[in-house]
Amino acid sequence: MKRNRKAKILATLGPKSSTLNVIEKLFLEGSDIFRLNFSHGSIEDHRKNCETIRQLEKKYNHPICILADLQGPKLRVGNFINQKEVLKKGQKFTFDLNNQPGDNTRVSLPHKEIYESLSANTIILIDDGKIKMQIIEQSEEKLIAEVLNDGQISNNKGINIPDAILPISSLTTKDEGDLNKALEMGVDWIAISFVQTVDDVRKLRKMVDLKTSIMAKIEKPSAVKNIEEILEEADGVMIARGDLGVELPPENVPSIQKKIINRCRIRGKPVVVATQMLESMINNETPTRAEASDVANAIYDGSDAVMLSAESAIGNFPIETVTIMNKIIESVENDNENYNLSFEQQIDNSININTTDAITSAAFTISQNSGSKAIITFSVSGKTTARMSKERAPVKIIGISPNIETARKLQIMWGVHSCHAKDAHDTKEMVSIACTVAKEENIAKPGDSVVITAGVPFGNAGSTNLLRIAKIIANKDLS
Ligand code: PGA
Ligand code: MN
Repeated sequence: MKRNRKAKILATLGPKSSTLNVIEKLFLEGSDIFRLNFSHGSIEDHRKNCETIRQLEKKYNHPICILADLQGPKLRVGNFINQKEVLKKGQKFTFDLNNQPGDNTRVSLPHKEIYESLSANTIILIDDGKIKMQIIEQSEEKLIAEVLNDGQISNNKGINIPDAILPISSLTTKDEGDLNKALEMGVDWIAISFVQTVDDVRKLRKMVDLKTSIMAKIEKPSAVKNIEEILEEADGVMIARGDLGVELPPENVPSIQKKIINRCRIRGKPVVVATQMLESMINNETPTRAEASDVANAIYDGSDAVMLSAESAIGNFPIETVTIMNKIIESVENDNENYNLSFEQQIDNSININTTDAITSAAFTISQNSGSKAIITFSVSGKTTARMSKERAPVKIIGISPNIETARKLQIMWGVHSCHAKDAHDTKEMVSIACTVAKEENIAKPGDSVVITAGVPFGNAGSTNLLRIAKIIANKDLS
């Protein structure tokens, strides 16, 4: 499945996108990574979606990346008898521990541990800040609040309490259970929500061991503050603008977004920009101009991927959102005047470089000087391919791994066309595998040249030390 772009698309699955038919269309239209959002849906829903994705992977012979997103200590209200209620400014509304469905006067808020740490006057924000309430009465099992603006509240909407420090860990008991299920399903990345410090990431690392990569969601002011340490430990980050823009003033989000993208670029860690990217497409077939600009700017800034949330999960136009996102990215990447991410302009490659750094940066230069169609990286662990992605070379990177888990997880990286193929045993075989894959994937044709990197002795992880230019030859000339 060849894409005509380098940046990736991440689509969240949900009730509007959980059939084979829709998931297949999302994939064909451009979704490279699917997010299973453990804040919603049942384990069975996620398992079924995972199986569907793996089925498509076989059908199209293309590794697909799955990200399991743990809810974290996101506070959510329970359900409503009528699914939703309209609340009016000035009315009272109660949160309690009663698990009966809610109505116009109350709803369950099943987080016993927080009731005590709140007090009168504390502000509660509902549904990404769409409704604001102020607590007027607090007890150990009930919070009575005054509604400060008209708005709609519905099933399972999230709440934020930015002013209070809540005594909760970023991995809840539910998350631990979900994590085990997600690992059983064989997902490729785990996203951890509401990270506050690097210790949250370390805790998850111990639990996943080496089974998946870890994406830290930056959605708390403390995570922004501790970004360097978090980046050191996590394998990638998501700029989770939904909660971030509630926990912090929304006007602070654009500069934080740019800062985090830059920090990730310098470290070569993948960065995903998320939430409300094409929000109006939940109900409309076309995006607003501002939304198109938002997606475009995330790409201009150098993000590895942009994400669809409600748009693809519960919106009325899930497939169209991927189609338009794909077009916006292609359009930016064709803007030769303004889109130039070449990493060499940003960082001095001459300091602190190791062999992989040296080989990848040379591969970049050689691919340009030789007019190569692709850089092909043989990588068991995926490290060299990820390092190549960091260079932001203008040619496609074909990441080849004999390890299917590696091939899947790399699909999130900018510019990487990730393939699962057998490992080479000698350089002749390496050239033959590389050229066959490049041809089969329609990235190069006979007569084109490609740059290949690999590690000798073959089969060892972490030993990239070989660089080679090869010319693609037609099958008939092989014998
Ligand atoms: P969520 O994370 O969709 O899981 O809340 C993204 C965000 O907060 O922006
Ligand atoms: Mn969030």
